[in-house]
Amino acid sequence: MRLLLLVSLTLVLTLATPFAQADPKSASIAWIDANAETLKRVNRNIWSYAETGLEETKSSKELQDVLAANGFAVEAGVSGMPTAFVASFGSGRPVIGILAEFDALPGLSQDAVPERKDRPGVAAGHGCGHSVFGTASTAAAIAVKQALASGAIKGTVKLYGTPAEETGIGKTYMLREGLFKEDDIILSWHAAPVTAAAYDYSKANVSVKFRFEGLPAHASTSPFQGRSALDAVELMSVGVNYMREHVKEDTRIHYVITNGGGQPNVVPPSAEVWYYLRANKHADVEEYFQWLNEIANAAASMSRTKLTAVQVDADMHEVLPNRTLAGVIHQNLEAIGAPRFTEEEKGFARSTQKDLGSLPMALSERVEPLPEVPQQGLASTDVGDLSWFVPVGQLTAATYTFGAPGHSWQIVACTGTSIGEKGMMVAAKAIAASAVDLYRSPELVKKAKADFDEIRKPLEFVTLVPEGQKAPKAIR
Ligand SMILES: [Zn+2]
Repeated sequence: MRLLLLVSLTLVLTLATPFAQADPKSASIAWIDANAETLKRVNRNIWSYAETGLEETKSSKELQDVLAANGFAVEAGVSGMPTAFVASFGSGRPVIGILAEFDALPGLSQDAVPERKDRPGVAAGHGCGHSVFGTASTAAAIAVKQALASGAIKGTVKLYGTPAEETGIGKTYMLREGLFKEDDIILSWHAAPVTAAAYDYSKANVSVKFRFEGLPAHASTSPFQGRSALDAVELMSVGVNYMREHVKEDTRIHYVITNGGGQPNVVPPSAEVWYYLRANKHADVEEYFQWLNEIANAAASMSRTKLTAVQVDADMHEVLPNRTLAGVIHQNLEAIGAPRFTEEEKGFARSTQKDLGSLPMALSERVEPLPEVPQQGLASTDVGDLSWFVPVGQLTAATYTFGAPGHSWQIVACTGTSIGEKGMMVAAKAIAASAVDLYRSPELVKKAKADFDEIRKPLEFVTLVPEGQKAPKAIR
């Protein structure tokens, strides 16, 4: 019985291999097409698990199982995070790393239907499209592995399972623990409303929690004997809201109160507020972070409470764009083509646009032109830190409604359907094809490294994460 189970499991997990062709690029692409059904199943599973940061046990295992079944050596639980892993195949240089993310977002429960509808009993959802992200990257790594195993190309491929991207934790601590630094090139992608080679900066972003301690007391009979830690949090927010007027326009400051006390008749003895502070350049984040700290200290003085902790969980640098890698990826995207959608899929997406105003299309079906100069993105990612140590090439593939906001129910809905999976297939192929180009051309790798040196050399890497700090065990 057990043997039978083992045999059938192997059959399920060992994917079809159309690798007789001579050209490793078209063979890699053919492998991805031949295994489309398995990849869709992996996406649907991760999508339905909808596990949030550092708790992605089943999602991480889903990817690890497919990689192990396809001949990768998988090291799980790396860098002090149970859901972080590295899967490797091959030997020698070049070493190409591919990034996979799989964390969902809290508060984004949504069914795979074209109107706003919670999934009963589920609190989180893939509002950033990380189920298709992780699956496509894994597919690309396995497709590349087939080409390496056939002898058509030489080198090493590593698939990094990077948890808790939404809070910038996974890659930050994997990098601090020494991963990635041996890689020659890192390739990644992201779910998006459009298909494009990414030639842009992201914003830098520090994630920091401020904890205050006061004194508990009956809020009605003896308030004069209490000191409210919640007052400190509120005063800090007032201070930060005045600060906003006098920072550079590209700065973003947002917060949630993670502890605001227990109930109104007890003066809150402890309180915590969690801030993201972003700017286009990390140097500005460093400066404004000091300002934030001074406001926190002032709020403690005003409320006669104590600022007991300033906990920096993550500090993401802006992504440094790479012209050569963007060019390689763009060429491959043009050759592969953007996803094409059926009328039914367009109808689904159009229904999700109901509250988004007038939009020119339901779903994008073209590859965007490669910009002449790097653009400036508005989001942040822990991919940024890696790009300060290794040349990073990225792309986006149309996986959801055109015009949908980031972190929205529309993204959850689409990535749980064939819409997201069509973009997923394009992303997998573009990463695999670009990797094959890089394995085949030492010149390209050299050129990407020269681009990297040029942009990186004048910059100093400063992190606000205290030295020696280990990965947190939980997000909050
Ligand atoms: Zn994301």
